[in-house]
Amino acid sequence: MQVKRWCLPVDKSVGEQTRKQLLEEGVLDRLCRIRSDGDNLLIPVTKYIEGAVCEEFSCIPSKTVLPRFEQVGGIAIMQEDDKIGAEAVLASKKTYHTVLFADSAVEGPFRTKKFRVLAGIDTTATEYTEYGRHFFIDLSLAYFSARLSGERQRILSMMNEGERVIDMFAGVGPFAIALAGKASVVYACDINPEAVILMVRNIAKNHLTNIVPILSDAMNLPVIITQPADRIIMNLPLHSIPFLEAAFSMTRPGGMIHLYALVSHEEEYVPVLRTFPLKKLEHRYVRSYSPDRFHVVYDIIRG
Ligand code: SAM
Repeated sequence: MQVKRWCLPVDKSVGEQTRKQLLEEGVLDRLCRIRSDGDNLLIPVTKYIEGAVCEEFSCIPSKTVLPRFEQVGGIAIMQEDDKIGAEAVLASKKTYHTVLFADSAVEGPFRTKKFRVLAGIDTTATEYTEYGRHFFIDLSLAYFSARLSGERQRILSMMNEGERVIDMFAGVGPFAIALAGKASVVYACDINPEAVILMVRNIAKNHLTNIVPILSDAMNLPVIITQPADRIIMNLPLHSIPFLEAAFSMTRPGGMIHLYALVSHEEEYVPVLRTFPLKKLEHRYVRSYSPDRFHVVYDIIRG
Protein backbone atom coordinates (compact mmCIF):
# COMPACT_ATOMS: atom_id res chain seq x y z
CA MET A 1 0.00 0.00 0.00
CA GLN A 2 1.32 3.49 -0.94
CA VAL A 3 0.97 6.35 1.59
CA LYS A 4 2.07 10.01 1.66
CA ARG A 5 4.61 10.71 4.43
CA TRP A 6 7.01 13.40 5.57
CA CYS A 7 10.57 12.30 4.89
CA LEU A 8 14.12 13.57 5.13
CA PRO A 9 16.15 13.38 1.90
CA VAL A 10 19.81 12.67 2.78
CA ASP A 11 22.90 11.69 0.82
CA LYS A 12 23.34 7.88 0.79
CA SER A 13 26.78 8.19 2.47
CA VAL A 14 25.10 9.46 5.67
CA GLY A 15 21.90 7.42 5.35
CA GLU A 16 22.54 4.87 8.11
CA GLN A 17 23.88 7.52 10.50
CA THR A 18 20.80 9.70 9.94
CA ARG A 19 18.43 6.72 10.30
CA LYS A 20 19.98 5.90 13.71
CA GLN A 21 19.77 9.54 14.80
CA LEU A 22 16.08 9.78 13.82
CA LEU A 23 15.43 6.49 15.61
CA GLU A 24 17.08 7.85 18.78
CA GLU A 25 15.03 11.05 18.51
CA GLY A 26 11.88 8.91 18.22
CA VAL A 27 10.77 10.38 14.87
CA LEU A 28 11.72 7.57 12.47
CA ASP A 29 8.57 6.18 10.82
CA ARG A 30 9.18 2.46 11.03
CA LEU A 31 5.93 1.61 9.30
CA CYS A 32 7.25 2.88 5.95
CA ARG A 33 10.12 1.57 3.86
CA ILE A 34 13.13 3.86 3.33
CA ARG A 35 13.63 4.31 -0.41
CA SER A 36 16.30 5.66 -2.70
CA ASP A 37 15.95 8.66 -5.00
CA GLY A 38 19.10 9.15 -7.15
CA ASP A 39 22.03 9.81 -4.79
CA ASN A 40 19.66 10.35 -1.87
CA LEU A 41 17.79 8.16 0.57
CA LEU A 42 14.30 9.27 1.55
CA ILE A 43 13.89 8.48 5.25
CA PRO A 44 10.25 8.60 6.39
CA VAL A 45 9.53 10.46 9.64
CA THR A 46 6.45 10.56 11.85
CA LYS A 47 6.09 14.40 11.83
CA TYR A 48 7.37 17.47 9.99
CA ILE A 49 10.99 18.27 10.90
CA GLU A 50 13.31 20.83 9.34
CA GLY A 51 14.24 19.87 5.77
CA ALA A 52 11.39 17.32 5.47
CA VAL A 53 9.46 16.94 2.21
CA CYS A 54 6.32 14.96 1.44
CA GLU A 55 6.73 11.79 -0.66
CA GLU A 56 4.99 8.48 -1.31
CA PHE A 57 6.11 5.36 0.53
CA SER A 58 5.11 1.74 0.67
CA CYS A 59 3.94 0.46 4.05
CA ILE A 60 5.71 -2.38 5.82
CA PRO A 61 3.22 -5.06 6.89
CA SER A 62 2.96 -4.76 10.68
CA LYS A 63 4.46 -8.16 11.47
CA THR A 64 7.77 -7.25 9.74
CA VAL A 65 8.20 -3.93 11.53
CA LEU A 66 10.35 -5.51 14.26
CA PRO A 67 13.89 -4.18 14.64
CA ARG A 68 16.82 -6.51 13.90
CA PHE A 69 17.75 -8.95 16.65
CA GLU A 70 19.52 -12.26 17.29
CA GLN A 71 17.65 -14.97 19.14
CA VAL A 72 19.23 -17.22 21.78
CA GLY A 73 16.61 -19.37 23.50
CA GLY A 74 14.14 -17.02 25.24
CA ILE A 75 16.39 -14.00 24.79
CA ALA A 76 16.36 -11.57 21.87
CA ILE A 77 19.51 -9.48 21.49
CA MET A 78 18.92 -6.20 19.69
CA GLN A 79 21.52 -4.23 17.79
CA GLU A 80 20.01 -0.89 18.77
CA ASP A 81 19.17 0.67 22.11
CA ASP A 82 15.48 0.98 21.23
CA LYS A 83 13.07 0.37 24.13
CA ILE A 84 9.92 0.70 22.05
CA GLY A 85 11.27 -1.76 19.47
CA ALA A 86 12.27 -4.07 22.34
CA GLU A 87 8.69 -4.15 23.66
CA ALA A 88 7.48 -5.05 20.16
CA VAL A 89 10.05 -7.85 19.91
CA LEU A 90 9.08 -9.17 23.36
CA ALA A 91 5.42 -9.24 22.35
CA SER A 92 6.15 -10.93 19.01
CA LYS A 93 6.71 -14.44 20.39
CA LYS A 94 5.43 -16.12 23.54
CA THR A 95 8.77 -17.79 24.24
CA TYR A 96 10.74 -14.53 24.53
CA HIS A 97 11.18 -13.57 28.17
CA THR A 98 13.89 -10.88 27.80
CA VAL A 99 15.19 -8.40 25.23
CA LEU A 100 18.82 -7.31 25.65
CA PHE A 101 21.04 -4.68 24.14
CA ALA A 102 24.80 -5.37 24.05
CA ASP A 103 26.48 -2.44 25.81
CA SER A 104 29.97 -3.58 24.79
CA ALA A 105 31.76 -5.61 22.14
CA VAL A 106 33.00 -9.12 22.95
CA GLU A 107 35.79 -8.39 25.42
CA GLY A 108 38.37 -9.80 27.85
CA PRO A 109 39.80 -13.30 28.09
CA PHE A 110 36.34 -14.82 28.64
CA ARG A 111 35.00 -13.25 25.40
CA THR A 112 31.81 -11.99 27.09
CA LYS A 113 29.74 -8.84 26.44
CA LYS A 114 28.04 -6.47 28.86
CA PHE A 115 24.26 -6.42 28.40
CA ARG A 116 21.43 -4.08 29.37
CA VAL A 117 17.85 -5.33 29.70
CA LEU A 118 15.54 -3.35 27.38
CA ALA A 119 12.34 -5.30 28.01
CA GLY A 120 11.01 -8.31 29.92
CA ILE A 121 12.56 -10.18 32.84
CA ASP A 122 15.81 -8.80 34.26
CA THR A 123 18.14 -11.69 33.36
CA THR A 124 20.87 -12.72 30.94
CA ALA A 125 20.22 -16.44 31.51
CA THR A 126 18.11 -18.67 29.32
CA GLU A 127 17.71 -22.20 28.00
CA TYR A 128 18.53 -22.99 24.38
CA THR A 129 17.94 -26.08 22.24
CA GLU A 130 19.98 -26.96 19.16
CA TYR A 131 19.37 -30.16 17.14
CA GLY A 132 17.80 -31.81 20.20
CA ARG A 133 20.65 -30.80 22.51
CA HIS A 134 19.80 -28.60 25.50
CA PHE A 135 21.87 -25.83 27.05
CA PHE A 136 21.78 -23.54 30.08
CA ILE A 137 23.29 -20.25 29.01
CA ASP A 138 24.14 -17.03 30.81
CA LEU A 139 25.30 -14.48 28.27
CA SER A 140 26.92 -12.15 30.80
CA LEU A 141 28.89 -14.97 32.48
CA ALA A 142 30.10 -17.02 29.52
CA TYR A 143 30.32 -16.67 25.74
CA PHE A 144 27.63 -18.28 23.63
CA SER A 145 26.52 -17.83 20.04
CA ALA A 146 23.95 -19.87 18.16
CA ARG A 147 25.49 -18.82 14.86
CA LEU A 148 27.91 -21.75 14.69
CA SER A 149 25.17 -24.39 15.00
CA GLY A 150 25.64 -25.34 11.32
CA GLU A 151 29.39 -25.74 11.87
CA ARG A 152 28.79 -28.12 14.77
CA GLN A 153 26.62 -30.29 12.51
CA ARG A 154 29.18 -30.12 9.68
CA ILE A 155 31.98 -31.37 11.93
CA LEU A 156 29.74 -34.05 13.45
CA SER A 157 28.99 -35.32 9.94
CA MET A 158 32.74 -35.55 9.16
CA MET A 159 33.50 -37.65 12.25
CA ASN A 160 34.05 -41.39 12.51
CA GLU A 161 32.63 -43.32 15.46
CA GLY A 162 34.96 -43.53 18.47
CA GLU A 163 37.13 -40.49 17.78
CA ARG A 164 39.09 -38.81 20.57
CA VAL A 165 38.25 -35.11 20.47
CA ILE A 166 39.70 -32.05 22.20
CA ASP A 167 37.73 -28.78 22.35
CA MET A 168 40.40 -26.29 23.47
CA PHE A 169 38.08 -23.29 24.04
CA ALA A 170 34.83 -25.03 24.89
CA GLY A 171 32.72 -22.31 26.56
CA VAL A 172 29.45 -23.78 27.87
CA GLY A 173 30.06 -26.87 25.72
CA PRO A 174 28.13 -26.54 22.41
CA PHE A 175 30.82 -28.20 20.24
CA ALA A 176 31.79 -30.76 22.90
CA ILE A 177 28.17 -31.80 23.46
CA ALA A 178 27.39 -31.93 19.73
CA LEU A 179 30.42 -34.12 18.97
CA ALA A 180 30.08 -36.39 22.02
CA GLY A 181 27.44 -38.45 20.19
CA LYS A 182 30.12 -39.97 17.92
CA ALA A 183 33.25 -39.56 20.05
CA SER A 184 34.71 -42.08 22.50
CA VAL A 185 35.82 -39.12 24.62
CA VAL A 186 35.75 -35.32 24.38
CA TYR A 187 38.14 -33.23 26.48
CA ALA A 188 36.47 -29.81 26.83
CA CYS A 189 38.62 -27.03 28.23
CA ASP A 190 37.88 -23.43 29.17
CA ILE A 191 39.68 -20.82 31.27
CA ASN A 192 36.42 -19.21 32.48
CA PRO A 193 35.17 -20.94 35.68
CA GLU A 194 31.57 -19.81 35.02
CA ALA A 195 31.69 -21.36 31.53
CA VAL A 196 32.94 -24.65 32.97
CA ILE A 197 30.21 -24.64 35.66
CA LEU A 198 27.56 -24.14 32.93
CA MET A 199 29.26 -26.79 30.77
CA VAL A 200 29.05 -29.36 33.60
CA ARG A 201 25.33 -28.59 33.96
CA ASN A 202 24.91 -28.97 30.19
CA ILE A 203 26.75 -32.29 30.09
CA ALA A 204 24.42 -33.60 32.80
CA LYS A 205 21.34 -32.09 31.14
CA ASN A 206 22.16 -34.03 27.95
CA HIS A 207 22.86 -37.27 29.87
CA LEU A 208 26.40 -37.54 28.52
CA THR A 209 29.16 -39.50 30.24
CA ASN A 210 32.04 -39.17 27.79
CA ILE A 211 32.98 -35.50 28.19
CA VAL A 212 35.84 -34.48 30.49
CA PRO A 213 35.39 -30.80 31.49
CA ILE A 214 38.69 -29.08 32.21
CA LEU A 215 39.07 -25.69 33.91
CA SER A 216 42.46 -24.58 32.62
CA ASP A 217 44.42 -22.40 30.27
CA ALA A 218 44.46 -24.42 27.03
CA MET A 219 48.26 -23.99 26.98
CA ASN A 220 48.36 -26.61 29.76
CA LEU A 221 46.47 -29.26 27.77
CA PRO A 222 49.55 -31.06 26.36
CA VAL A 223 50.58 -31.99 29.91
CA ILE A 224 47.00 -32.90 30.96
CA ILE A 225 46.08 -35.02 27.90
CA THR A 226 48.79 -37.50 27.03
CA GLN A 227 47.12 -39.65 24.33
CA PRO A 228 46.92 -38.10 20.83
CA ALA A 229 43.59 -36.79 19.56
CA ASP A 230 41.83 -37.55 16.26
CA ARG A 231 40.22 -34.12 16.14
CA ILE A 232 40.73 -30.71 17.76
CA ILE A 233 38.36 -27.74 17.81
CA MET A 234 39.93 -24.29 18.17
CA ASN A 235 37.24 -21.63 18.48
CA LEU A 236 39.00 -18.56 19.82
CA PRO A 237 38.89 -16.54 16.61
CA LEU A 238 41.17 -13.60 17.44
CA HIS A 239 43.78 -15.23 19.66
CA SER A 240 44.30 -18.84 18.59
CA ILE A 241 47.68 -18.60 16.81
CA PRO A 242 49.79 -18.94 20.00
CA PHE A 243 47.90 -22.21 20.75
CA LEU A 244 48.70 -23.87 17.40
CA GLU A 245 51.87 -25.50 18.69
CA ALA A 246 49.93 -27.11 21.56
CA ALA A 247 47.19 -28.22 19.13
CA PHE A 248 49.62 -29.82 16.66
CA SER A 249 51.49 -31.55 19.51
CA MET A 250 48.20 -33.18 20.67
CA THR A 251 46.92 -34.31 17.22
CA ARG A 252 47.93 -37.66 15.72
CA PRO A 253 49.36 -37.61 12.17
CA GLY A 254 46.30 -37.75 9.88
CA GLY A 255 44.13 -36.20 12.61
CA MET A 256 42.18 -33.01 12.02
CA ILE A 257 42.27 -29.51 13.51
CA HIS A 258 39.38 -27.07 12.91
CA LEU A 259 40.69 -23.56 13.46
CA TYR A 260 38.19 -20.68 13.50
CA ALA A 261 39.59 -17.23 12.70
CA LEU A 262 38.39 -13.70 12.06
CA VAL A 263 40.00 -12.51 8.84
CA SER A 264 39.83 -9.89 6.11
CA HIS A 265 40.73 -12.43 3.41
CA GLU A 266 40.36 -16.22 3.43
CA GLU A 267 44.06 -17.02 3.02
CA GLU A 268 45.17 -14.77 5.89
CA TYR A 269 46.30 -17.59 8.22
CA VAL A 270 47.73 -19.82 5.46
CA PRO A 271 51.37 -18.59 5.75
CA VAL A 272 51.49 -19.24 9.51
CA LEU A 273 49.75 -22.62 9.11
CA ARG A 274 52.31 -23.67 6.48
CA THR A 275 55.02 -23.51 9.18
CA PHE A 276 53.38 -26.60 10.79
CA PRO A 277 53.36 -30.21 9.49
CA LEU A 278 50.38 -30.29 7.07
CA LYS A 279 48.96 -33.08 4.96
CA LYS A 280 46.00 -31.04 3.73
CA LEU A 281 44.69 -27.53 4.34
CA GLU A 282 41.26 -26.27 3.33
CA HIS A 283 39.45 -23.09 4.29
CA ARG A 284 35.85 -22.04 4.03
CA TYR A 285 33.81 -18.94 4.74
CA VAL A 286 31.60 -19.31 7.86
CA ARG A 287 29.78 -16.02 8.39
CA SER A 288 30.20 -12.27 8.12
CA TYR A 289 31.32 -10.25 11.12
CA SER A 290 31.73 -6.64 9.96
CA PRO A 291 31.86 -4.92 6.55
CA ASP A 292 35.55 -5.81 6.16
CA ARG A 293 35.98 -8.95 8.27
CA PHE A 294 34.43 -12.42 8.38
CA HIS A 295 34.79 -15.77 10.12
CA VAL A 296 36.62 -18.53 8.32
CA VAL A 297 37.36 -22.12 9.35
CA TYR A 298 40.62 -23.81 8.42
CA ASP A 299 40.23 -27.60 8.25
CA ILE A 300 43.76 -28.90 8.73
CA ILE A 301 44.90 -32.51 8.37
CA ARG A 302 48.13 -32.91 10.33
CA GLY A 303 51.09 -34.33 8.42
N1 SAM B 1 33.49 -22.93 21.73
C1 SAM B 1 32.55 -22.15 22.48
C2 SAM B 1 31.35 -21.80 21.62
O1 SAM B 1 31.36 -22.06 20.42
O2 SAM B 1 30.37 -21.26 22.16
C3 SAM B 1 33.19 -20.88 23.09
C4 SAM B 1 33.94 -20.05 22.11
S1 SAM B 1 34.42 -18.45 22.74
C5 SAM B 1 34.71 -17.60 21.24
C6 SAM B 1 36.06 -18.73 23.31
C7 SAM B 1 36.17 -19.35 24.69
O3 SAM B 1 37.57 -19.52 24.98
C8 SAM B 1 35.60 -18.52 25.83
O4 SAM B 1 34.67 -19.29 26.54
C9 SAM B 1 36.83 -18.18 26.73
O5 SAM B 1 36.54 -18.21 28.10
C10 SAM B 1 37.80 -19.30 26.35
N2 SAM B 1 39.22 -18.99 26.51
C11 SAM B 1 39.86 -17.82 26.27
N3 SAM B 1 41.18 -17.96 26.50
C12 SAM B 1 41.38 -19.25 26.86
C13 SAM B 1 42.54 -20.01 27.21
N4 SAM B 1 43.74 -19.46 27.24
N5 SAM B 1 42.38 -21.30 27.53
C14 SAM B 1 41.14 -21.89 27.52
N6 SAM B 1 40.01 -21.22 27.20
C15 SAM B 1 40.14 -19.92 26.87
